[in-house]
Amino acid sequence: MAGLFTEYHRRMRHEHGWQVPLDCPVCRHLGVPDFEGWTPQQGMNFGDRPTIYADLACENCGHDLHDTAGEKLVELFTEVSTPGRNRRLLWTFVGLMVVVPLLLVGLICLGVRLGWWGPFAYTILSGLSLLVVPTIFWINWQVHRLRHECPCGQPDYLFMGLLGRSSCYRCSTCGRLLRLRD
Ligand SMILES: [Zn+2]
Ligand SMILES: [Zn+2]
Repeated sequence: MAGLFTEYHRRMRHEHGWQVPLDCPVCRHLGVPDFEGWTPQQGMNFGDRPTIYADLACENCGHDLHDTAGEKLVELFTEVSTPGRNRRLLWTFVGLMVVVPLLLVGLICLGVRLGWWGPFAYTILSGLSLLVVPTIFWINWQVHRLRHECPCGQPDYLFMGLLGRSSCYRCSTCGRLLRLRD
């Protein structure tokens, strides 16, 4: 079990980075910015607003390129849609989250009607609610599997930031862009 969690965290962890050239608004230098680690950002962005975690500086003058990177992220990823498998997984998740509560309501009604509204019914109910967390884990696992495969055969996805609530990745090997929702 512990091994499974380690593997899960390894799979879910992503590497921050930025390998796309940016246009410095101060010195007009165009180049891949210096990556100086990353900073956690507060708040959740809705709509299609970018969130950049990477600390990026112009390699020429050192100007902070956080906002420039945000604009670039929008430019790069607005037209990128999440893979079909990702969307199907999200629908599965939504479906389960609707079906499971409906089943619970159905069970409660059935239990009342059949008069077995005893400890047995509670066992079933708690059993069902216990399934919620593994389901979330499973869906996330399936979604992030997409980051570990690439048509180029050498998947090496760097996390560039969030666009709205979807994560934006770029394969360092082939430059393929990938947008995931979990
Ligand atoms: Zn500059
Ligand atoms: Zn690739």
